[in-house]
Amino acid sequence: MINIAIDGHVGSGKSTLAKGLAKKLGFDMFDTGAIYRGLACEFMKRGLGEPNQEKIENFINSIDLKIEFIDDIEHVYVNGFDYTPYLRLEETSVMAGKVSPFIILRKKVLEIQREFAKTHNVVMEGRDIGTEVLPNADYKFFVTASEEVRAKRRFDQMKGKPNAPTYEDVLRDLRERDFRDEHREVSPLKPAKDSIIIDSSNQTLDETIQKCLEIIKINEQNLKKVF
Ligand code: C5P
Repeated sequence: MINIAIDGHVGSGKSTLAKGLAKKLGFDMFDTGAIYRGLACEFMKRGLGEPNQEKIENFINSIDLKIEFIDDIEHVYVNGFDYTPYLRLEETSVMAGKVSPFIILRKKVLEIQREFAKTHNVVMEGRDIGTEVLPNADYKFFVTASEEVRAKRRFDQMKGKPNAPTYEDVLRDLRERDFRDEHREVSPLKPAKDSIIIDSSNQTLDETIQKCLEIIKINEQNLKKVF
């Protein structure tokens, strides 16, 4: 199986890049943030308040977590409930960042991710894929862009929607999430030693996909495996 790891900052375009690459290569695309988001939804539904070690231990021992792909859409089930429609809500984003630092919770997610990679050609996207989840991935990309560019992209996506945040709100939220992801003790967001860094500040998505495809294609041996 061929595994491609894509990690990067909030709003760096890593999800779109992962989707684009997976499509071009005919691979599955696995968005690992969706799992943390699904867990965050269940945590909130139970009204457990702010997460702490004890709450997370009890929580994780009482859940059954399943990921299923239906018509190419990744569905996250916790105890049989499909949280897919709720994954992108703002409160889900915030809670996902709060539950994700707990090691016991990450272990559960790790098993699912590795099992999937063993049995699928996959582009797996997240924060710790190249460093922790798939340290032996065939290719590792770390995507980033300047804070301002990332905030502007997010702001443009949400502009005009009900309760759309201001640019300043988006920038503040992005900085907070970056800080939490980069400074947590367990699996902090950082490029793996062998990651290829892609700065998408000054390039379009198509250019970024093309650049990654070229890197994949120049490796003769893997070229035969992929195409
Ligand atoms: O990528 P996305 O924004 O959907 O991820 C939601 C949250 O899940 C992140 O803020 C991060 O805290 C956590 N996450 C993680 N490790 C991953 C993917 C996501 O800790 N591999």
